[in-house]
Amino acid sequence: MSADLSYVQPTPNSPWGTYLSQVDRVVPYLGELSRWAETLKRPKRALIVDVPIEMDDGSIAHFEGYRVQHNMSRGPGKGGVRFHPDVTLEEVMALSAWMTVKTAAVNLPYGGAKGGIRVDPKKLTHKELERVTRRYTSEIGIIIGPQQDIPAPDVNTNAQVMAWMMDTYSMNVGGTATGVVTGKPLHLGGSLGRVKATGRGVFVTGREAARRLGLDLRGARIAVQGFGNVGSVAAELFAEAGAKIVAVQDHTGTIVNANGLDLKTLLPLARAEGVVGFKGGDVIANESFWDVACDILIPAALEGQVTAERAQKTQARLVLEGANGPTVPAADDILAERGVLVVPDVICNAGGVTVSYFEWVQDFSSFFWDEDEINQRLDRIMMNALNQIWDTADRHRITLRTATFAVACERILMARQERGLYP
Ligand code: GLU
Repeated sequence: MSADLSYVQPTPNSPWGTYLSQVDRVVPYLGELSRWAETLKRPKRALIVDVPIEMDDGSIAHFEGYRVQHNMSRGPGKGGVRFHPDVTLEEVMALSAWMTVKTAAVNLPYGGAKGGIRVDPKKLTHKELERVTRRYTSEIGIIIGPQQDIPAPDVNTNAQVMAWMMDTYSMNVGGTATGVVTGKPLHLGGSLGRVKATGRGVFVTGREAARRLGLDLRGARIAVQGFGNVGSVAAELFAEAGAKIVAVQDHTGTIVNANGLDLKTLLPLARAEGVVGFKGGDVIANESFWDVACDILIPAALEGQVTAERAQKTQARLVLEGANGPTVPAADDILAERGVLVVPDVICNAGGVTVSYFEWVQDFSSFFWDEDEINQRLDRIMMNALNQIWDTADRHRITLRTATFAVACERILMARQERGLYP
């Protein structure tokens, strides 16, 4: 007997609604553990904080911040912090839940958490951004910690933001606690390979999926939505493997070149001002991105981008979810019917949190690994996880998404059951 959550009414294509429907699809494969499935639909703990700061002009501004700890059955909470004007509690709940599934899918000893501030960081000065970050960290300081919950970068946050978070938490506890956040600068306990890890994981899982499909990466045409830390790194690695990046969309617009965009010139420009000023391609309407002639589609921006209509028109054979929650459930069904293979976010973009785990382990032992070792371990973990998920998908004849949820949710609910209910 369970009542609906009073503080959220999920709509079908909202991130939380999408997550709930993904859970519903896995329940039939959980056997006796399905008794515990309701656990997955309820965040353990959600904190909403006021983040007041003094702006450079002397005025006072207030921002709304969140930290949601979705599940901690398998270990401390883990997940990024997002700065975006559209962040809501409901979105952070979904993102935290996907972290629970993701960390379990690659078998890291973590639960899932996520944080966010409803703010447009582009409208803040460097000093204002620092004040927002520090005040937010201090407010959520009552629930985070190296053994409780470990934040990391996500959309619009980076190593500098993590350095401020680490410093603020450390000042408050009276010591230097490097293990409280991951994705830090290298000389503050950061890990080699962390910046590129998410894009690298997209490449590693995508390369294996392409191999299984019989899709040769040499000459394969790739369309990438979102050209930040995930999309641009994945694009670079696929291009090195011989693929052609034929379309890129970012917040400034969409560019295409059927012969392949030259990444060496595009990347610095994209970082500085966005892709539309690029001379080596044509600008097209944003909606036309979705039916561009391509073999692989990499949505690496925000949630809810692959709608039913866009799923219907994509020409890709393979979708690699660099973003969290990019595909709505109706689109998932259409892609499956059309024979388009989707490597879901909860395995495809797990490279970031995997190297975050390496960083946390290195911080605890104060012993740091070289980049080759990081990348080799990352590849091994991602490949083992993917192979197990693939076997599960084949055995039950289910999509890779439902198979990833099946593998992950079994681990989460087994831990839940073994720990037992307190009191
Ligand atoms: N924000 C990243 C994600 O969505 C990484 C989280 C982490 O490293 O904890 O997976």
